[in-house]
Amino acid sequence: ESTTTQEPQLVSEVNQLDILSAVGYSLKREVPKKDLNRDDITALQHWVILLSKCLPARLPFKTFLRNMDRALNEVQDSQRMLTTTDYMEMLRKSQESADFALIEDQWVSCAGSKSWYRGFPCGLWTTFHTLTVNCAARDLSRISGLNVLIGIRGFVTRFFGCVHCREHFAKMAKYIRSEVQTHDDGILWLWEGHNKVNARLQKDASTDPVHPKIQFPPPSMCRECRSSTTPEDTIKTGTGKEETKWNKPVLLHFLREHYSPDNIRVKERS
Ligand code: FAD
Repeated sequence: ESTTTQEPQLVSEVNQLDILSAVGYSLKREVPKKDLNRDDITALQHWVILLSKCLPARLPFKTFLRNMDRALNEVQDSQRMLTTTDYMEMLRKSQESADFALIEDQWVSCAGSKSWYRGFPCGLWTTFHTLTVNCAARDLSRISGLNVLIGIRGFVTRFFGCVHCREHFAKMAKYIRSEVQTHDDGILWLWEGHNKVNARLQKDASTDPVHPKIQFPPPSMCRECRSSTTPEDTIKTGTGKEETKWNKPVLLHFLREHYSPDNIRVKERS
């Protein structure tokens, strides 16, 4: 047996139940925390349209999202606020007439080693990456790379319950209009932003010790994504920090594959 030290074999799967749970949690728990003004309703509608057009999903789920979009249009036309009670009723009716029920806590790849780790924020990142990749793949979505990120930013800044996450993300995404044009820009922008958060949280107490924060993807998932895999793999930046060198074309190919419908597991929770 070999005695050489190897990097940990960190591998993560994309699972449909994590995405569906994150969507359900976002709509059932995060959005109804306050009455919605017109700008909130616009951001919510953008989120619903992104999910509806870009997520690979079955018909009842799509029908539910289209029902929500129609109902939100009516509220926009009537120029009124949407109270929490009215929103919950809209959510109930949209599910009922699509014969569909949202789920909100069936975590598979996003399950933590303890109940307080991972879950919703992990599912939300997974959903965001899946959206950037699948809006790109689905030409018919007619949603630009920039608009995907504007929709994601709108959801985070108006509805994500983690206040410091929201503030960090808003700061990071302040210049997306000049930084993102194409879908490839959007996929890479989100990947890079997520890795910045991973780096910041590496030693944070909120991090599940069984699922350490790493610069994604680790070599065990895509060795060729890094320009080299030797210790010289890292370069010193102007600030003295070490950064991984990435092979962007290979990385982009990896992200497109990893978050593609063919790679999303439809496995039940064990
Ligand atoms: P997560 O970081 O949630 O990642 C989920 C999965 O995504 C990973 O298992 C992996 O398969 C994949 N992945 C990881 N990195 C990448 C990448 N770069 N590109 C593509 N896929 C990747 N917590 C804070 O304490 N402070 C913050 O400021 C903060 N900001 C956040 C901002 C947003 C928008 C979100 C959604 C969450 C934020 N969080 C923040 C929560 C934090 O980022 C984690 O989601 C949480 O700690 C759970 O981590 P996790 O181990 O489940 O993996």
